[in-house]
Amino acid sequence: MLFAVLFVSLHVIGLLVFKSQTASTFASYPFLLLAPSLAFASCCWRAGAEERESRSPWILLSAGMCLWTCGMVLSAWEDIFQHLPESAAWFSDFSFFLYGVPVLLAISSVSAKQRMPFFIWMDAAQALMTGFLAYVSIFSVLPFSDTPLAPVSASTLVLTYNAENFILAVAAMLRLLAQPRGRERRFYAVLCSFLWIYAIAAYVYNNWAATSDGHAVMDVLVDIPFIFLVTATMAPSSPRTEVEQEPHEQRLTLFIENVSPIFYTVALLALSMWVMRQHFYVGTVGIFTALVVYATRSTTLQGRYIRVQRELHDARDRLEQMALTDALTNTANRRRFDDALALEWNRAIRNRHPLALLLVDIDYFKLLNDRYGHPAGDRCLVSVALALQSALPRSTDLLARYGGEEFAAILPATDEAGACLVASTMQEAVRSLKIRNESSTGLYVTVSVGVAVFESPQADAAEIIEAADQALYRAKQRGRNRIEATVQRDFLRNGTR
Ligand code: GH3
Ligand code: MG
Ligand code: MG
Repeated sequence: MLFAVLFVSLHVIGLLVFKSQTASTFASYPFLLLAPSLAFASCCWRAGAEERESRSPWILLSAGMCLWTCGMVLSAWEDIFQHLPESAAWFSDFSFFLYGVPVLLAISSVSAKQRMPFFIWMDAAQALMTGFLAYVSIFSVLPFSDTPLAPVSASTLVLTYNAENFILAVAAMLRLLAQPRGRERRFYAVLCSFLWIYAIAAYVYNNWAATSDGHAVMDVLVDIPFIFLVTATMAPSSPRTEVEQEPHEQRLTLFIENVSPIFYTVALLALSMWVMRQHFYVGTVGIFTALVVYATRSTTLQGRYIRVQRELHDARDRLEQMALTDALTNTANRRRFDDALALEWNRAIRNRHPLALLLVDIDYFKLLNDRYGHPAGDRCLVSVALALQSALPRSTDLLARYGGEEFAAILPATDEAGACLVASTMQEAVRSLKIRNESSTGLYVTVSVGVAVFESPQADAAEIIEAADQALYRAKQRGRNRIEATVQRDFLRNGTR
């Protein structure tokens, strides 16, 4: 801050001491050259000090400052050594104008998290094209052609600069509104303040310069934005706490983030249309470039969007699958069982079909765990699940791990005979696994099965679970390794009533 006040004060004193026009010009130039050079140096320093991903906007701003400084050097050269070719003044204007190119590139660059190298190259191509068109529009001549330079009028030049400055300031403000995070936010806050100060200072200065007698008193105005940039860039950054955005703020952020990359395309289009009036083919090439870049960008984004959408769908399907599957045995879990039972129960009511439920419990499983260890118990559960599944031939049947060493099978449209057949097939399949577990039922692992068959389901699905549970309890009571069934008959169907 002290530095800023000192710098501007020295410039003012210099101007007050040297009253004559020539002397004040000489006194002013060191300051006019020093201010943007310092801004350039501080931006370079900042670019070096930043982390890798937040470096590029600072590099672009440094490039802008470099171009501005070059413009000032060329302008000073032309001013002091007036015998030099007239074109020098126009080269300086070209340089001043071109400073907006990297600055706009910095504004329109997307946040680090969604940056794509391909887009950076496209933006660079657009920047190059814009620079070329800026040259053509200001010089009103194609570069490297032998046509003599035709300088534009001072009023057109002032208008061009003012328009450029205010467009840049508004664009940077919109970018800032998009709430970039952390270090990015700091960059855009500095850039936006600089561009507004610059736009206002340049507006006052240019209008004054167009009408004044040429005394350098207003030169001080030129220092201010650059000195501001130096102090803001060098200031230590305070750690900022991230604030949660409101939903409407998020929508605005998303909108501005999506629109900002096309700032450049719009600038290029506008410039091309301007140039087209005098150089039809050059303008056409500009418009063509803008359209190609725009089309490529939207096609790429569309492709990426579709890919991300597909990945999201896959991830959702995988998650859903995981949420409904038992991790150990890979059969349906309790949640899927509950859903399926409710579904089949209602379907059975609608279609007047019977519904069967089997509860299968491994006999003396605790013994097996104690004898051979928990991992052996786990392996046994996996094998038993596979064996039980093999006993279910219909695709509509569902096997689930009901809990612990207990499985459940839902058999839609199955009567008592069918359910008991499946139950004995299950017993046989488990027995033939020959997993050792000596007990009162024999040498190998066996299962007890509780069968519940509802010939005409009504009321609540919990009834069938209750019935199957009671049947299983009976099977355990009566010595295990057996099948017990509870059947709720449909008397109307059987014609016994
Ligand atoms: P019963 O014949 O009366 O069914 O006797 P049981 O020993 O099979 O039944 P009990 O309910 O006494 O014991 C069940 C055992 O199953 C207790 C528990 O440690 C074991 N268990 C439950 N879940 C798992 C599992 O995921 N892995 C293993 N290894 N053991 C389990
Ligand atoms: Mg058991
Ligand atoms: Mg049990």
